[in-house]
Amino acid sequence: MSEHIVIVGAGHAGGTLAVQLARAKDRFRITLIGEEAWPPYERPPLSKQFLMGDVPLEKTFLRPETFYADKGIDLRLGTQVTAIDRTARSLTLSGGETLSYDKLALCTGTRVREIPVVGRDLPGVHYIRTIDDTQAIRTVAREGAKVVIAGGGYIGLEAAAALRKMGCEVTVIEMMDRVMARAVAEPVSRFYEAAHRAEGVNLLLETGVAEIGGTDRATHVVDSHGHLHPADLVLVGIGVVPVVELAEAAGLATDDGIIVDSRARTSDPDIFAAGDCTRHPNRILGRDVRLESVQNAVDQARCIANELSDKGADYAEVPWFWSDQFDLKMQMAGLPAPDDQVVVRGEPSTRSFSVFYLRDGRVTGVNAINVGSDYVRGRKWIGEGRDVDSVRLANTEIPIKEV
Ligand SMILES: Cc1cc2nc3c(=O)[nH]c(=O)nc-3n(C[C@H](O)[C@H](O)[C@H](O)COP(=O)(O)OP(=O)(O)OC[C@H]3O[C@@H](n4cnc5c(N)ncnc54)[C@H](O)[C@@H]3O)c2cc1C
Repeated sequence: MSEHIVIVGAGHAGGTLAVQLARAKDRFRITLIGEEAWPPYERPPLSKQFLMGDVPLEKTFLRPETFYADKGIDLRLGTQVTAIDRTARSLTLSGGETLSYDKLALCTGTRVREIPVVGRDLPGVHYIRTIDDTQAIRTVAREGAKVVIAGGGYIGLEAAAALRKMGCEVTVIEMMDRVMARAVAEPVSRFYEAAHRAEGVNLLLETGVAEIGGTDRATHVVDSHGHLHPADLVLVGIGVVPVVELAEAAGLATDDGIIVDSRARTSDPDIFAAGDCTRHPNRILGRDVRLESVQNAVDQARCIANELSDKGADYAEVPWFWSDQFDLKMQMAGLPAPDDQVVVRGEPSTRSFSVFYLRDGRVTGVNAINVGSDYVRGRKWIGEGRDVDSVRLANTEIPIKEV
């Protein structure tokens, strides 16, 4: 008899896992449960092409809507899993129904971190996490609309770039002294700050949001220096938190994420977890991490599928990520520490350069802006644990593959 695999969360990881398991015909009975109304979709376009209206809704779907029924996957949308009974190996669903499982996969992702200021609940204050969020933003983001964005991380800056292209007047308010400070080195931050300002974004650093003002809806933002910024739309992009409550209530080990081992197994042998919601060991990095990336959602989902198909192998992937802002495609790999050595390769003013990160000569990260070959090489080096000569690396007369 086929094993019943229930997947909680029909996002990137949950959707990928269902697709992978469906390949093993008849071996599994698959139920995929998602609280959103949409079949599994890609979130990256929500702050990029889909926000600008450059791709239709269906193009964001991981698979066409009909795929799941065609493959015999029981896809239940608009349904929340509210409890796990590990002893009975069953779940409670939002409609009150119970559902038993043989193996369970938690792919519950993250939710947005809410901004803790007066006015945060006013209509006109938006986050960008779901299709519904981006659709709501698109109804207001007309040419000339004033948009204030809280947060100069990837999502805030991608949205700023998209909204500028759509003709909006954009202000970005960032608390730190540089943008994307958690993820990239100073030369990359400074380059992006200049790029945004050159495109007409009003970028404020070392500034917080003190209050969102308005009566029936948000009409302005007051910053921490007391300045008032008129707003037709307020966007908040100040990070996310892992969705772990279901796992926690069931007594699974958590610590800023559901704790899993190198095979994506939780502390219960019948329960796995994948994607943004997990904290997991990464052999290449030599430490436990929680990642928020498509790469990790896909690779961990594959890891579970392999484990369930008796082809298990330890998860050991180089983390990678990308960000599109204006004509700038940044590709990133690795997870460098803040005090790693920074080597700039190329001239930022050409809008095509890279920043490498080294620790004791070993490559730990790369940010390549419009230079795909540096990204590919850097990612390979990180995986191999390669030492490189920083002087040769900085010399663009030496082709990257000869460094
Ligand atoms: C605007 C935006 C831009 C991004 N850009 C990039 C990018 O350029 N590159 C990149 O690598 N990554 C990017 N990311 C991150 C990437 O989308 C995530 O890392 C990825 O979606 C994680 O997949 P996941 O399946 O773990 O979580 P999600 O995709 O968040 O899916 C989790 C799903 O589980 C559902 N759920 C949670 N609890 C329950 C429950 N109890 N019952 C039922 N359903 C539940 C949630 O509603 C959600 O639909 C971006 C994210 C956003 C929001």
